[in-house]
Amino acid sequence: MRDLLNDAAERAARYLETLGARPVFPPPAAVAGLAALDEPLPEGPSDPAQTLRLLDEVAGPATVASAGGRYFGFVTGGSLPAALAASILAAAWDQNTAFRVMSPAAATLEEVALNWLTELLGLPAGCAGALVTGATMANLSALAAARRALLLRCGWDVEHDGLVGAPALTVVVSDEVHVSLLKALGLLGLGRERVVHVPVDGQGRMRPDALPPLDDATILCLQAGNVNTGAFDPARELCAQAQAAGAWVHVDGAFGFWAAASPAYAQLTDGYAEADSWATDSHKYLNVPYDSGAVFCRHPEQLRGAMRTGAAYFQVTDQRAGEVVPLARQRLPCA
Ligand SMILES: *Cc1c(COP(=O)(O)O)cnc(C)c1O
Repeated sequence: MRDLLNDAAERAARYLETLGARPVFPPPAAVAGLAALDEPLPEGPSDPAQTLRLLDEVAGPATVASAGGRYFGFVTGGSLPAALAASILAAAWDQNTAFRVMSPAAATLEEVALNWLTELLGLPAGCAGALVTGATMANLSALAAARRALLLRCGWDVEHDGLVGAPALTVVVSDEVHVSLLKALGLLGLGRERVVHVPVDGQGRMRPDALPPLDDATILCLQAGNVNTGAFDPARELCAQAQAAGAWVHVDGAFGFWAAASPAYAQLTDGYAEADSWATDSHKYLNVPYDSGAVFCRHPEQLRGAMRTGAAYFQVTDQRAGEVVPLARQRLPCA
């Protein structure tokens, strides 16, 4: 086993060391070579060392060099060496992190990381946070909390009674909303096409002067970082209008919200801390391996209420037992 892991580490290091000298998109021969992987389901076990060699020699050359510094397609981040090394250790630990009793180490690491992220991103103390697989799931989790909160105001418990016959909610997005947010709305039964679109300026920023009337049954979705221009919606002005109307403000800050952690760029995120929920991606600007994102919510009880699971064997011996994301990973509000 030790030889196998050392071999994997050796191959991984060699891969990264040669990344800077190879084409970012794999050459056609390497892509054609992938056909070698399409073998019939083996009748029996394979030699692990040989499988590793096959991955390294056949799949490796056909990877896109997005782990390196010369990749400029899509919004894809590489990993810093520290994050990669920790991730290798985490793979060896292979923890199920649903409850503290299942992994005190993972629970503690999550709590510390989420506390640090809350502070780094300038979010209000007392907000809930949770680790998810990416901004899509962060958007989904936050919008589920919003859906719950707004429908409860109308006396409707959506987790208990479903959406059929529920009072209508309005979701407001910009003309340049990210597709993953629309996907999350579709999954939540709020409708990809049922949204109200707000026109944008030349940089893709939502125009505050073009906002439709908002009310306390409205979710206003802002974007911190437009994928085409990098522009930020003017949150200070938009949040003020939303708050006056009692609307819920959600922020899709997949890559842009990390500006809050940079003294040079923090002014771009002015006003964003006034929102009710935030989604971000750690596998973009934080440069940790895929799949890693985080969701934050000003109203911990709504996030928890939207994601709660219940089972006879969930005893109250574990304060983590109220899950706050679709996967059973959660953190209670910051102390
Ligand atoms: C990347 C991105 C997403 C989706 O993130 P995933 O990590 O792919 O789930 C959502 N919104 C914006 C603005 C993005 O750039």
